[in-house]
Amino acid sequence: DLVPLKRALISVSDKTGLLDLGRALADRGVEILSTGGSAKALRDAGIAVRDVAEVTGFPEMMDGRVKTLHPMVHGGLLALRDNPDHVKAMEDHGIGGIDLLVVNLYPFEATVARGADWDEAIENIDIGGPAMIRAAAKNHGFVTTVVDVEDYAALLVELDENGGQTGAAFRRTLSQRAYARTAAYDAAVSTWMADTTGDAAPRRRAVAGTLKQTMRYGENPHQAAAFYTDGTDAPGVATATQHQGKELSYNNINDTDAAFELVSEFAGEDPACVIVKHANPCGVARGGTLAEAYARAYDCDRVSAFGGIVALNRPLDGATAEAIAQIFTEVVIAPGADDDARAVFAAKKNLRLLTTDGLADARAGGRVWRQVSGGYLVQDKDVGQIALDQLRVVTKVQPTEAQLNDLRFAWTVAKHVKSNAIVYVKDGATVGVGAGQMSRVDSTRIAARKAQDMAEALGLSAPLTQGSVVASDAFFPFPDGLLAAAEAGATAVIQPGGSMRDDAVIAAADEVGLAMVFTGMRHFRH
Ligand code: 5GP
Repeated sequence: DLVPLKRALISVSDKTGLLDLGRALADRGVEILSTGGSAKALRDAGIAVRDVAEVTGFPEMMDGRVKTLHPMVHGGLLALRDNPDHVKAMEDHGIGGIDLLVVNLYPFEATVARGADWDEAIENIDIGGPAMIRAAAKNHGFVTTVVDVEDYAALLVELDENGGQTGAAFRRTLSQRAYARTAAYDAAVSTWMADTTGDAAPRRRAVAGTLKQTMRYGENPHQAAAFYTDGTDAPGVATATQHQGKELSYNNINDTDAAFELVSEFAGEDPACVIVKHANPCGVARGGTLAEAYARAYDCDRVSAFGGIVALNRPLDGATAEAIAQIFTEVVIAPGADDDARAVFAAKKNLRLLTTDGLADARAGGRVWRQVSGGYLVQDKDVGQIALDQLRVVTKVQPTEAQLNDLRFAWTVAKHVKSNAIVYVKDGATVGVGAGQMSRVDSTRIAARKAQDMAEALGLSAPLTQGSVVASDAFFPFPDGLLAAAEAGATAVIQPGGSMRDDAVIAAADEVGLAMVFTGMRHFRH
């Protein structure tokens, strides 16, 4: 399965390494065909090259839209050398075999990334390149396809190790890379078109992206992982500037995203702080100052906050940085950091500081994907918001204004907690978070128990859930969860409502004197 390399076609937009490759091939006696710019570069360097236009008998035309789309090229790439009919067709039409294709495509991704207009982007959709790549890669039994400058060296090694021939395994590997490239290329075109035309409905959409970072590992050390960006320039973990600390890990990026998304709900509000651990908030608070917000968030669950991710809704200052630096923190993300804060963190080499250009728009739509076996799910991002006048009080007791503020705060946090989510809040700070339980009553109890633990650690006479309010991301299916919250000291409840047993749940609330409001909206998050 070794195939000698006699004839190559080179057509590259990125001319990096072109001359070295051309020279190395020419030295090995390979005949080189090439397109306009590539041919000129080779010829100018004194490397023997034949123009594709001479082979096809057609000039390159229509601004380069048609250069290589011709049977003399595609026949040479696609012909099966061991098929008598194919060989006869080649002879009949004077088609010479092409054993190596070296193509890199018009830089479509880079063109749209620098904000080119529609027409320029369209003109940068390569047509002949992908056609040749797909043809050559299909015929990998005989043809080698190189689509990446990084593979030039491996090609030369392969030729040297096999006396100027290529092996089947090598050609197959490169064939796979070739199809990955054309798939990503068309996905980039489709994504750009979707974004530019602003069609927001979830629909068939290719996953495309630009590789930003290859990680040492993924969620666990035995999983390979990488971070791709999708070209949006909105503030967030993908576009943040990292000022210090090691590279972000897979989990860091995931958690930082969760923290920043939640803190962005508090744009334009009082100073606010979110601490995230394993993608769930373990402390969220407002404060008169950022330092106070951090301290109150930390006091929700000091144990979990260790090694957490901290997100802030305004630029980090020195006092807040001092407080954060007291415990081991993985990442801090904020829309800026002043000199005092930077000086405090400079001594903490392992702490990653990320700054963003403002907060994310918590109301901006978007789509989220989730992979399942055999496919993926696509849905709109959960940007549901509840206005105060949409809340329906269902109990005899009305919530006070202070309770309403806390209920709304708890509801916002609950939206960012994995279901079943239960969030206790007091005076603009979470005091208990129950996340990710399969039963709602368990989430209710776990959050209350953690509040009890914190009260003991802080030397308080009663847990902070005393006199708190509580949010539930979905309805209470039975009174038990609600009663558990009341037992923990909650005095007001926010939940979607809509259960078959709402009447029983409302009656239970009235019995224990709770105020309860229904949102009519659910915030499952899995
Ligand atoms: P060159 O700089 O050699 O003139 O052009 C190289 C680029 O042209 C490569 O990126 C290659 O993929 C692309 N190309 C080759 N043949 C065709 C074609 O027939 N149509 C279009 N649109 N692009 C082509």
